[in-house]
Amino acid sequence: MLNIVLFGPPGAGKGTQAIKLKEEYNLVHLSTGDLLREEIKQETNLGLEAQAYMTKGELVPDEVVIGMIASKLEQNKTVNGFIFDGFPRTTEQAEALDNLLSSHNSSITKMLSLEVDDEELVARIVQRGKDSGREDDKNESVIFNRIITYNKKTSPLKAYYDHQAKYHIVDGIGSMDEVFERLKDKIQN
Ligand code: AMP
Repeated sequence: MLNIVLFGPPGAGKGTQAIKLKEEYNLVHLSTGDLLREEIKQETNLGLEAQAYMTKGELVPDEVVIGMIASKLEQNKTVNGFIFDGFPRTTEQAEALDNLLSSHNSSITKMLSLEVDDEELVARIVQRGKDSGREDDKNESVIFNRIITYNKKTSPLKAYYDHQAKYHIVDGIGSMDEVFERLKDKIQN
């Protein structure tokens, strides 16, 4: 199996690139952000609980997102692999993912980290807010909180995957196709 963690701060381009990678390598795309937004749309209890965190730019509790990923892995047992987008975001989630995959006799192949500077991130998120209407992309203090949360809780995962010799840096500045070529290059080499 080819299991890729597509990593990076909010606005780095993970969602866009994940869709392209899913098509290129015939993978199942698992975005916890998309799954949570779907729960909110369906007005489920899980969605209502998650929304309180998301509107503030904070992380939804680990057990909630880990549970969602566990059931998706259970539903997709005979696939080529997965592209994890926006998950894991904490050390606890990364450990849980390793354990879940190992119970399916699998593991993460590579973690690809899209690097984009903070100034460019904010500009991209503000633009996305205008295009998609995502609530958490519209408020500047929520955007900053998401970037601070990423730096504090999520970026330590670079060291986590580096210890497993799976951490690869990819320059996230450039056209969609340029970044896609860089990602494919890291996957293949
Ligand atoms: P995203 O679409 O990945 O930018 O996620 C949007 C929001 O959903 C985040 O700001 C978090 O509030 C929540 N979220 C998404 N994925 C996770 C995760 N793996 N762990 C905790 N919260 C998450």
